[in-house]
Amino acid sequence: MKGVFCTKDSTIGIDGGPASVRAMLADLIPGCDIFCLEQVHSGRVVLAEDLAPFETPRADGIISRDPGAVLCVRTADCVPVLAWARDMPLNAAVHAGWRGLAQGIVAVCIRMMRSLGARDISAGIGPSIGPCCYEVGREVIDALGAEPLVRSDGSLTVDLREAARSQLLDSGLSGTAIEMHNLCTACNTDRFFSYRRQGQSAGRNLSLIGGESWLLPGLPVG
Ligand SMILES: [Zn+2]
Repeated sequence: MKGVFCTKDSTIGIDGGPASVRAMLADLIPGCDIFCLEQVHSGRVVLAEDLAPFETPRADGIISRDPGAVLCVRTADCVPVLAWARDMPLNAAVHAGWRGLAQGIVAVCIRMMRSLGARDISAGIGPSIGPCCYEVGREVIDALGAEPLVRSDGSLTVDLREAARSQLLDSGLSGTAIEMHNLCTACNTDRFFSYRRQGQSAGRNLSLIGGESWLLPGLPVG
């Protein structure tokens, strides 16, 4: 196994920033270098080896060539994407909301992984708000270039997980190389945090790859 999409079991009370999450993870999985991001809904992906110790860069994706490094993104409805190369040590974690997806952040990440030498890449898409609950305005649909789903009352929803999957497919991954957890965070607040349901008080779902992250309770990937 490569990583895990954590459930509330391992992320109770998590609503702090990247530094507090890293401190908590350091206790849970000791002996690993842990990387968290100051997430800003950007299209920016950074390389862990370029960072200073304990730096939390303003970015929404991170890549590492160190298989022992643990990469973490925090979400509460946005889409977590974990990716790994099968032909070399290379892991990645991405936080992809509609703004990040509109900036192509998943495609940016895969392009960076290829530029580092990866040829055979797999990915997992984690629990996030589903088209059942993600009502949006026309501006979101236009920014994503996605096909809207129209409800009976005329409101529009969109499928963020499918938008992330499309970027993986367009980046050359095969459908069989993509693991998808089709779980809606807003429909399953017993297991996951949801910003749409819980507002400002929502904690964050952690998604991790690398090291012994998969020891944490949740949905394993890879
Ligand atoms: Zn739902």
